[in-house]
Amino acid sequence: MTQVIAPTPDADDAWFWKGVAEDRLLLQRCAECRLLRHPPSPMCSGCNALAWETLPASGRATVYSWVVSRHPTRPDADPRIVVLLDLEEGVRFVSNLVDCPLEDVRFGLPVELVFVDYDGVRLPQFRPARS
Ligand SMILES: [Zn+2]
Repeated sequence: MTQVIAPTPDADDAWFWKGVAEDRLLLQRCAECRLLRHPPSPMCSGCNALAWETLPASGRATVYSWVVSRHPTRPDADPRIVVLLDLEEGVRFVSNLVDCPLEDVRFGLPVELVFVDYDGVRLPQFRPARS
């Protein structure tokens, strides 16, 4: 049985998890120079501005890389495919690939966002694109 550790939002990312609770994947964008950044941070790395806004991600991405995560001592029911994605908006995002046989994973695979509940914890996940 896979144990899910609930995220513990703080002042820097509570807005992100609020978006996830509403089935929205929000990205942080500098209010001055418009640079997107992820993971969330309090200051823009491009211009050092502190003001920021959110941009809803389209949910479209491609697989940049992946690893297969298996429990070291207790086999999981299903190994987890952890993916590093290129979001359409131009930032990278770490997530899990679901509804995808391991043999179908490849570099550049088009994927789409889905929200999945694991033991009461809602997480943004990705599956192979259907459209
Ligand atoms: Zn900036």
